[in-house]
Amino acid sequence: MNPFSTLGIRHDIVNAITDLGFETPTPIQEQSIPVLLSGSNDFVGLAQTGTGKTAAFGLPLLELIDFTKNYPQALILCPTRELCLQITSDLNNYAKNLNDVHVVAVYGGASISDQLRQIKRGVQIVVATPGRMLDIINRKAINFSEVRYVVLDEADEMLNMGFQEDIDHILSTTPDDKKTWLFSATMPAEVRRIAKNYMTDPVELTMGKQNTGNVNIDHEYYVIRARDKYAAFKRIVDFNPEIFGIVFCRTKIETQEIAEALIKDGYNADSLHGDLSQQQRDKVMKRYRDRNLQLLIATDVAARGIDVNDVTHVINYSLPDELENYTHRSGRTARAGKSGVSISIINSKELGKIRQIERTIGKKFTKVDVPNGFDVCEKQLFAMVHRVHQVEVNEAQMESYIQRIMDEFAEMDKEEIIKRFASLEFNRFLDYYKNAPDLNAPVGDDRGDRGERGERTERFSRGSSSRGDYTRLFINLGSVDDFTRGDMLGFICNNAKISGKSVGKIDLKGVYTFFEVENDVAEAVQQNFKSVDFNGRTVRIELAGERDGGGSRERSGGFRREGGSRERSSGGYRDFSGKRRDESRGDRSGAGRTGGDRERRKRY
Ligand code: AMP
Repeated sequence: MNPFSTLGIRHDIVNAITDLGFETPTPIQEQSIPVLLSGSNDFVGLAQTGTGKTAAFGLPLLELIDFTKNYPQALILCPTRELCLQITSDLNNYAKNLNDVHVVAVYGGASISDQLRQIKRGVQIVVATPGRMLDIINRKAINFSEVRYVVLDEADEMLNMGFQEDIDHILSTTPDDKKTWLFSATMPAEVRRIAKNYMTDPVELTMGKQNTGNVNIDHEYYVIRARDKYAAFKRIVDFNPEIFGIVFCRTKIETQEIAEALIKDGYNADSLHGDLSQQQRDKVMKRYRDRNLQLLIATDVAARGIDVNDVTHVINYSLPDELENYTHRSGRTARAGKSGVSISIINSKELGKIRQIERTIGKKFTKVDVPNGFDVCEKQLFAMVHRVHQVEVNEAQMESYIQRIMDEFAEMDKEEIIKRFASLEFNRFLDYYKNAPDLNAPVGDDRGDRGERGERTERFSRGSSSRGDYTRLFINLGSVDDFTRGDMLGFICNNAKISGKSVGKIDLKGVYTFFEVENDVAEAVQQNFKSVDFNGRTVRIELAGERDGGGSRERSGGFRREGGSRERSSGGYRDFSGKRRDESRGDRSGAGRTGGDRERRKRY
C-alpha cells in the first residue's frame, strides 16, 4: 500500500501526488498528517522551509474540507506573494483529480478585482498574504464565519515583516472554534505569543532540532580582504560552473550593484529587491525558475518565500544583520531532500559572526580557500568537456556541414582534434586567470578593512607618500580613461611586473589615480613604468607626495577636473561606484570575459 494511503490520504489525491514524484512522505508529513487529519487539534509545527510543509497541511486540508459547499472553510496566511502562489498551485496540483475544488490566491501587487471576482464565484480555500486579505475583509467582500481551519505558514517571517496587527485583525474575523495550524522555522517570542493567544493546547511537533539548518546543507566560509570580495565571489562562481544560485546582499543598492557588475562581466545574473515593481519581480522570478537565469541576487525581504527546487548554492555576499535570517537564506537550497551549499564570503573581522551562527544552527562551518586561477581553469575545462560529451547534436542541421568539417580535419587524428577544441576554451580561461592573485586573507589580517576605512579617513591626509609598509604613488590615468580599479590593478601589475599582493589601496580618480605599493617594490614600479604608454599617451608615475601636497588639491581642483559633479555632489554614488569598481574587476588581469560565460548563458 502507498505510504500516503496508509497515513489516511484518499486514492485520488495519492495518485495526483505520485504524479508529482511524492513517493514517500517526508518526516514532517509523516508526523503531522495523522494529527491534522483528525481535524480536532490546534497545531504548531517547527519546521524549516523545503521540508514538505505545504503537503503536510495541504493534504489534510483537502481531506477535511467539504467541496460540495461553496464558501470559505480554510484560510492560509503566508508572508509573500511568491509563497502564496506556490501554495495555491501546490494545492491545485494535489487536488487535480477532485471535483469542485476552488482555491483562490489573494495577494498584493495584482488586480484586486480579479481576486474579488473569484471570491464571489465561490471558494473553499483562501491562500493570502495579510495586507491584501485585510483589504478585502475591510471591503466586506468575504465572509469567514464558516472557516474551520486557519494555517499560518512561515509565521516567523510574517511577524518579521510586520504583519502582526494584520494577522490579529484577520483572525478576529474567523470563528472562535476554528482550528489553527501554525508553521514556523524559528520560534521567537512573538510566534509563541500567537500560539498562546490563538490556540488551545496545540499539538507541537519539532522537525529536527529547533533552529537547526537543514542537515543536507554544507556551510562554508571564505576569508578574504574586504576589497577582494567581488573578485573572490566571481572566482567561487567560476569554480562552480554548474552553479544555480541565490546571492544575498544586505541592501537593495548592493543587490543592484552586484547584479549590474556581474552582468557587465558576462554572467547570467539579475537582481530581486523591494524597489522593483511586482511585474519586474515576476519577470525576474520567472526567468530564475525557468533556469534562464543562473544567479539571482536578492535582499532578504525580496527572497522570502522563494521556493525554487535545485538551487545548488546560497551565497552570503554579505552576512545578514539578523543572524536568524541566515537560516532563512540557507534554507533556499537543499530543498526536497536534495543537498546544497551555503557559502559566506567574509573578512577576518566577521569570524565572530560565523561562530555565532554556528552556535545558533548547531552546525559547524568549513573554512574553504578561494581557489587559485589554475584550479578554476581546470574546473572549467572539465565542465566544458562534460558539456561537449552531453551536447545534443542536431543531425539534420549538421548534415550539410559535416563533410566540409571532416575535410578540414582530415589530416588530424582524434587526440589532436580534441586538444584543439578543448584549447579553444581553455586558452581563454588560462589567459584570463594567468595573473590571478591569491585572494585568501590570512585570518587575523585586516588589511582589507583598513583599506576600506582608509578610503574615508585618508582622503584628507595624503600628503605623505609613505604609510607604514606602503608607498603611495600617482599615475596620470583614471576613470575617464575607462579604468576601473580592477583594470588599474591589472595594468599596474602587468607593467610593473609585480604581484597583485604587493598593491594596496587604489584610489581611482577622474584623470589620475593614487595607488599604494609595498615599499620594497615602489622603486621597481617607477622604473618599469618609465617606457610605458597608454593609447599613445606617456604614462607618468610619481610619488604621491610630489603631486599632492594634501587634501586641498583634491577637494578643489581634482574633482572639478574630472567633471565629476556627480561624484562630488553625491557621496553615496562615489562610495558606491568606487567600491563596486574596486571589487568588480579585481582579478580580471585586463582580460575580457571568456567564452565560458557565453556557454553558460546558452545553457541557462
Ligand atoms: P515545501 O516545504 O512544502 O515547500 O516543499 C519543498 C519541496 O519538496 C517542494 O518542491 C515539494 O514539491 C517537494 N516535496 C514535498 N513533499 C514531498 C515528498 N513527499 N516527496 C518528494 N518531494 C516532496
